[in-house]
Amino acid sequence: MILVVLVIGLLSGLLVNYLADVLPVDRRLGRPQCSHCHTPISTGDYLTWRNCTTCSHRRSLRAWLVLALYPLADIGLWFYPPLRLGFWLGALLLVYLGVVVVIDLEHRLVLHPVSLIGVLLALPIGIWLHGWLYTLLGGVAGFGMMYVLYYLGTLFSRWVSSRRGEDLEEVALGFGDVNISGVLGLLLGWPGITLGLFTAIILGGLVSGGIILVSMVQKRYRMFTAVPYVPFLVLGALWLLYRPF
Ligand SMILES: [Zn+2]
Repeated sequence: MILVVLVIGLLSGLLVNYLADVLPVDRRLGRPQCSHCHTPISTGDYLTWRNCTTCSHRRSLRAWLVLALYPLADIGLWFYPPLRLGFWLGALLLVYLGVVVVIDLEHRLVLHPVSLIGVLLALPIGIWLHGWLYTLLGGVAGFGMMYVLYYLGTLFSRWVSSRRGEDLEEVALGFGDVNISGVLGLLLGWPGITLGLFTAIILGGLVSGGIILVSMVQKRYRMFTAVPYVPFLVLGALWLLYRPF
């Protein structure tokens, strides 16, 4: 059985890599291309992990990390299955969340189709875990609370940039963060999402505080060093959803 779990982990890792490779480029499922010279890679070369035939660019560190981490994570899930999700749903959800996090880290982007798939996936899981009322409440609360933060962030950035007479460069939170909070709200339900968002904000605050400190020491401090919030949102949700007790 452990062999089956390993194979599931490897397939999950391949799937996460594939989706993270093609979705941000084409916005649809298509042929992967070299991240360096954009030559399309044949399915055979892609699966056998060959270097790019045109520029001999190697597969990214992320691809290796994902491929190594998923079998480990799935074995962990097998021995310590999340109490209410169980192994199979846990493994499936891990693929989705992995795609979201990798694309956000690499592109600062949450694609709309990915958010939509998230709703389709999270809604039945949420209803199964919390019943439809608390699932919908969680989704609305996740989306709504993050929307307020997003709106305040935009106002604040506008205010600062107008005082400085500069154009608005980037805002602290993106709308993708809002969408993903809605998806996580469906998964965590009400009132779980409040704890999930709280955890994410604390974690994100600690890390961005650290980044600001380091960049102040190096005297490269910028007002809006954008920190991707999606990984922290997902971490908060993982902690709540994947506890084996
Ligand atoms: Zn290439």
